[in-house]
Amino acid sequence: MGAFLALGECMVELAPVSAGGLYRRGFAGDSFNTAWYARRLLPQEWSVDYATCVGDDPLSDEMLAFMQAEGIGTDSVRRIEGSSVGLYMISVQDGERQFCYWRGQSAARQMAGDLKWLDGVLKGRDMIHFSAITLAILPPKSREFFCGAIARARKKGAIVTFDTNLRPALWESTDAMRQGLSMGARTADIVLPSFDEDSVLFEDATPAETAERYAALGADMVAVKHRSEALTLWQRDAGLSELQVPHVETVVDTTAAGDSFAAGLLAGLAMGAGLEEAAAQGAKLAGRVIGAPGALVPEAVLPA
Ligand code: ADP
Repeated sequence: MGAFLALGECMVELAPVSAGGLYRRGFAGDSFNTAWYARRLLPQEWSVDYATCVGDDPLSDEMLAFMQAEGIGTDSVRRIEGSSVGLYMISVQDGERQFCYWRGQSAARQMAGDLKWLDGVLKGRDMIHFSAITLAILPPKSREFFCGAIARARKKGAIVTFDTNLRPALWESTDAMRQGLSMGARTADIVLPSFDEDSVLFEDATPAETAERYAALGADMVAVKHRSEALTLWQRDAGLSELQVPHVETVVDTTAAGDSFAAGLLAGLAMGAGLEEAAAQGAKLAGRVIGAPGALVPEAVLPA
């Protein structure tokens, strides 16, 4: 039995279903996607909850109804009067998916506005997951308070995991992004960076350098993702190792590759697997997710 909590922003997704302007409404967002996969991977004795802020409009109601229908607890969602949720629209140009966002006013940006609420939702969790996007959407001055609350929960025994998901457009500057990533990582036991992104931001020459940089910030485990290349794993008591990822014949849509990888890895660790076994579970799941369109792919999760 255990309690898993992810924090961040879930958005309305509008995805084209045919030419001519017909769109399907869904809900997704990086840390939410991880919670969605975690719900399907963890045994029912585990609770999976999502902490965010939404508005008091019908769209926010629909989002919460969707979460509940998917088995994700919404008791940790704070309502903000007169506010609403963020939205993104997908368009396809020359076979490439492009994303257009309307999230500047979304309620989730106020997640650090009530520290009593934040401490309350973090209390008693066994695993807490957040990402650099969770931090990026907060007002710059409140990121430190937010990480402080997570650090307190970690001190009380929660395992904290941090995905370094980079979205330059959400940060006020490259420096702020670099500092934000390091601050988030310093709060975490397990850090999940992407070599493609980190190597540009921090000038890491190799995935091993990325892993060691996060190790120096205090992580116990680091799994550096590198698309179809081998994962670079680092553990405090075992050092560096590499793990090949399964070959994917046809990559259809890489959305949520990292989010599903995180869920596979976290669920593995929660069930008592070691890092290599847990990362292998994450890579297998991610490989199936990118073989199908969309962020949430039910058929990618095989029955236990
Ligand atoms: P992120 O989405 O966080 O940037 P990656 O794109 O590196 O991370 O992908 C996360 C994981 O998804 C990888 O570690 C790998 O397991 C899987 N993956 C991504 N792209 C591919 C690919 N082209 N072939 C096989 N596996 C992939």
